[in-house]
Amino acid sequence: MSKTHQECLRVLEVIRWQGKPRCPYCDSTSASAFKSEQRYHCNTCFTSYSVTVGTLFHQTHVDLHKWFHALELVLKASRAVSVRQLAQEVGVSKNTASYMIARIRKAVEEESELLQELVRLLD
Ligand SMILES: [Zn+2]
Repeated sequence: MSKTHQECLRVLEVIRWQGKPRCPYCDSTSASAFKSEQRYHCNTCFTSYSVTVGTLFHQTHVDLHKWFHALELVLKASRAVSVRQLAQEVGVSKNTASYMIARIRKAVEEESELLQELVRLLD
């Protein structure tokens, strides 16, 4: 699996918004797209956002394709994935790998619908 960051964002936009931007702060669907980065400007509350706001991917400084890879490893593995293994396979530090595993476990409880859809689409 070798998706680009942009492709990962698009996958998330389809899952969370059915492709139509929705402001995570005020729920407005009136948005202007920025030319780059797949960020949006809300025409109702004037904040800018991307599809990752409010998800486990928000403000982590880890590329989305690495997150998606980690999700596959953690959620599809028959045995628990170790921090060392995740760090090696995804290409992040052990600290980051440890954080990602903890964050994914938390998301399994809090964002289960999103994760289920993602894992289905990642096949
Ligand atoms: Zn808004």
